[in-house]
Amino acid sequence: MMKTLNDINFENKKALVRVDFNVPVENDKVTDNTRIKAALPTINKILKEGGSVVLMSHRGRPKGKNEKLSMQIIVPEVERVLDKEVKFVDDVIGDKVVKAINNLKPGEIILLENLRFYPEETKGDENFAKELAKNGEIYVNDAFGTAHRAHASTAIVAHYFDKDHKALGKLMEQEVKSINKALNEGEKPITAIIGGAKVSSKIDVIKNLLNKVDNLIIVGGMAYTFLKALGNKIGDSIVEDDKIDVAKEIMEEAKNKGVNLILPVDFVVADAFSPDAQIQIVPADKIPYGWQGLDIGPETLKNISQIIENSKTIIWNGPAGVFEFEKFAKGTEGIGKAIGKATEKGAYSLVGGGDSVAAVQKLGLENKISYISTGGGVLLDMLAGKKLPALEALK
Ligand code: AMP
Repeated sequence: MMKTLNDINFENKKALVRVDFNVPVENDKVTDNTRIKAALPTINKILKEGGSVVLMSHRGRPKGKNEKLSMQIIVPEVERVLDKEVKFVDDVIGDKVVKAINNLKPGEIILLENLRFYPEETKGDENFAKELAKNGEIYVNDAFGTAHRAHASTAIVAHYFDKDHKALGKLMEQEVKSINKALNEGEKPITAIIGGAKVSSKIDVIKNLLNKVDNLIIVGGMAYTFLKALGNKIGDSIVEDDKIDVAKEIMEEAKNKGVNLILPVDFVVADAFSPDAQIQIVPADKIPYGWQGLDIGPETLKNISQIIENSKTIIWNGPAGVFEFEKFAKGTEGIGKAIGKATEKGAYSLVGGGDSVAAVQKLGLENKISYISTGGGVLLDMLAGKKLPALEALK
């Protein structure tokens, strides 16, 4: 089985820690340090035990070396969050790096350069991973955001450490436990709310959830593909015509598995995709020609709020409409509120994905959700029941 930080003694050891410091930067300043903060428990634990820490991460999608995406830019913010000096080396492999790491004393931290300056990183190159492995005695992976990638630093490097010298970081451990709790150990009734622009990006998620949940609520842009599959007129609403068969298949499967699949019964429709479009509320089978659905309607929200509030386990990913525009944010915000209420009544709730998390934060509901995942693509892969290369490599 996988080891956690508690299973390993870090005293006088150099830990090579893969973190996710892919933080947004504007004018050379970090504008959101959430991901740096998320790595604190792991870093502090290793330092407290008398170890030293070699941090490595990617940032952005550089094609070769690119000064703008250097990790050096974020050093001041990392120092501020850690409240400690952080040394920087402008490479990730080679003599210069090994030498700097050899000089590292217990309690000290080094941050390496952007891993993706080497194309070998995303290719999962064995030789590159072997070189990376020279940068520490123990490998720790705490980069949940890239755990679904078989990159050199996220998975391949782990092959060069035996099972007693590699472990899951704290963030990773918490994410995996919390998602598993909702997905595989949830108390019934279990309700999933899946939204977002397109069904194509979440087919695997929806199919896997059909094996897990009692209620599957489909909202957002993807709902129109389902409604069209049922023969509804959807006006100018977003649709994926090549996924109509998949939508039919999903609805059939839900029926066979006894899953209550819920589609919107009304919509807020607009005469343009714009924040100040004309709007009206119409039943789901009466979207007028020339209009497009940009949010679920009040009747739908009432129905699904009731289902959510009667659930014991709730999983939410993806907005109910174009919530970036105030006029079409009510559905998404209403779902957040209903989940907050259910959680207050004792349900376990998991919310993930940038948009859903943003909605929860905007409503100040962070403390009313059981677990807010930091993962994007990796969360979708977990919800789809896929194995994560980063976890497999630690076994
Ligand atoms: P995703 O990344 O797949 O979770 O999709 C999120 C995006 O879906 C958001 O930017 C929303 O604005 C968009 N979206 C949600 N509902 C609709 C809709 N009815 N029409 C067009 N876009 C939508």
